[in-house]
Amino acid sequence: MTLLDEVRRIEQEALERIGNAGSLDVLKELQIQFLGRQGALTAVLKSLGALPVDERKAVGAQANTARKTIEEKLQEATDRLSQEKPVSAFDPTLPGTGQPIGTIHILNQVMREICDIFHGMGFEIARGPHVETDYYNFEALNFAPDHPARDEHDTFFVDGGRLLRTHTTPVQARELEKRKPPMKILMPGRTFRHEDISTRAHVSFHQIDGFMVAEGVSIADLKGVLNAFAHSFFGEDLKLRFRPSYFPFTECSAEVDVACYLCRGKGCQLCKQTGWLEILGSGMIHPNVLRFAGHDPEKYTGFAFGIGVERPAMLKYRINDIRLFFNSNLRFLKQFN
Ligand SMILES: [Zn+2]
Repeated sequence: MTLLDEVRRIEQEALERIGNAGSLDVLKELQIQFLGRQGALTAVLKSLGALPVDERKAVGAQANTARKTIEEKLQEATDRLSQEKPVSAFDPTLPGTGQPIGTIHILNQVMREICDIFHGMGFEIARGPHVETDYYNFEALNFAPDHPARDEHDTFFVDGGRLLRTHTTPVQARELEKRKPPMKILMPGRTFRHEDISTRAHVSFHQIDGFMVAEGVSIADLKGVLNAFAHSFFGEDLKLRFRPSYFPFTECSAEVDVACYLCRGKGCQLCKQTGWLEILGSGMIHPNVLRFAGHDPEKYTGFAFGIGVERPAMLKYRINDIRLFFNSNLRFLKQFN
C-alpha cells in the first residue's frame, strides 16, 4: 500500500467514525486519534522526508486536504451534538409548565351578574349596533331634532349621518318596532360619548337598559323589579329612593338611589356622607315612544330603566379610577379572578 492510499484510508475511516459518533467526548477522542501530535495523519506527514520529491508533494497535498476535510466534519458534528439536548435532561418528577388561563374582565363579570338577575325575572337579552342612526339614538326616543336634551349627549358623529350610540336605549326603539307586547327585554352593551377622560369619566362605557311593555304595566311594576334587582346585587333590606328626574323617552321619570350598603344609610366616605348611592335612571315609557314604534299607548304601557355598568362595579369593588377598566393592566384585572 502506498502512502497515498494510506492517507485516503485514514480519511475514510475518520469520516465514518465521526459520522457515527454519539457524543462530544467521542468526537474529542477522534480528533486526538486522527489529527493529534501522535495521530495517524501526523505520522504520515513525519515520514514524508524519506520520499522522492514528486511523491512527497503529492502525498503532502493529499494529507493536507484530508486534514481539512476531517476538521470540517468534526466541527459540523460538534455543532450538531451541542444543540441536541441529552435524553437524560428530562426529569419526569418536575411539575409541568401550566397553560396560563385568562380571566373574564370585571365589567363582563358585572354585566353577566346583572343580566342573570333580570333573566331570573323573565327578561330576554337583545343587542344592537354600536354605530347608530340619528333616528334610533334620538328621534324614536322622543328627542326632537332641536331638543336641548341632545346637548347632554356629547355625541361622536361618523360618516353618512350616523353616530356612535350614546346609550343602549336605541336597542329599545329597535325591539319595540320588531315585537308585539307583552315583552320584557334587557339590552347590555357599549356606549360612547365625547367626554374628557378622567378618574370618573371615559369616552366609552357600558350600560344595561331594560324595559317591559304590556297591558296594565304600572309604576308599581317598575319599583318591584328595581327593588328585586338592587337587593340581589347590593344586598337584602337596602332601601331604594326615587327622585323625580327628566328623560325625553320616559314620563314620569326618576333617578334611583340605593341606601349605601357600606354604612347602611348613616353616611360614610363611599356615599360622600349622603347615605345614598346613585345607581340608575328609570321611568314610564313616554306615549310618543310607543306610538313611533306602532303600538297604541291607550292599550299598552311600559317602564324602562338604564343602569351604567362601571359605576356599580366601582361601588361594589371599591375601584377609584374608571380608566383602570380599559388600560389592560394584568395586575388590576387578575384581582377579579
Ligand atoms: Zn355610606
